[in-house]
Amino acid sequence: MALINDFLSLIYPRQCEACANNLFKHERYICNYCKLNLPKSNYHQLIDNPIIQTFAGRIPLANGCTYYLYEKSGRVQKLLHAIKYQEQKELARYVGLLYAKELCDANSLANVDVVIPIPLHKNKLKARGFNQSEWFAKGLSEGLKKPMETVLFERVVDTKTQTKKNRYQRWENVEGIFALHQSESFSDKHILLVDDVITTGATLEAAWLAIKSVPGVKVSVASIAFATKA
Ligand SMILES: [Zn+2]
Repeated sequence: MALINDFLSLIYPRQCEACANNLFKHERYICNYCKLNLPKSNYHQLIDNPIIQTFAGRIPLANGCTYYLYEKSGRVQKLLHAIKYQEQKELARYVGLLYAKELCDANSLANVDVVIPIPLHKNKLKARGFNQSEWFAKGLSEGLKKPMETVLFERVVDTKTQTKKNRYQRWENVEGIFALHQSESFSDKHILLVDDVITTGATLEAAWLAIKSVPGVKVSVASIAFATKA
């Protein structure tokens, strides 16, 4: 089998999903150079950081973190593109495992009880085939050794059908986009909400609206990449 793999990599060299250089045999998905040099945020090391500031007054976050900082037409964008458009589920999971390792080493998010990926609406999931946030969350859940919940948190509104509405109508509808079922089982729990990319934070804010009435609930957020406005 190893011989066949070596042979195949001669004909079809596997490439780094971030920089497109050929991978060495021992490398998986991302070359060692990129592993060391992709722009990591290290926000989990900071009590206050740009993600916590992004959600200030909107979500009282226990912690806000992202593995990478998004740079346009950069390697992080290429990585996200590979996950989203080439359906690289295992790459998303692998990135989650890498990040979880760093979070564990820093003893960050140690008191999280459950990992919840931002769900897609069932129509979108059917069309796309998989939820990239869920596969990233799966890696985080495995690496952090915290359970992942994908059934009880549901996207009940297909936001695609909302794009025709004006801004005010959209805002009115934000409240009911997500639903938390059996919400009593989340009392006093620390939930880690996971999204692939954080930009304005609108999606996570809509998610929080479905969670915030649970007594004693705490929320942190984690993403693969964060797009700073600066
Ligand atoms: Zn690379």
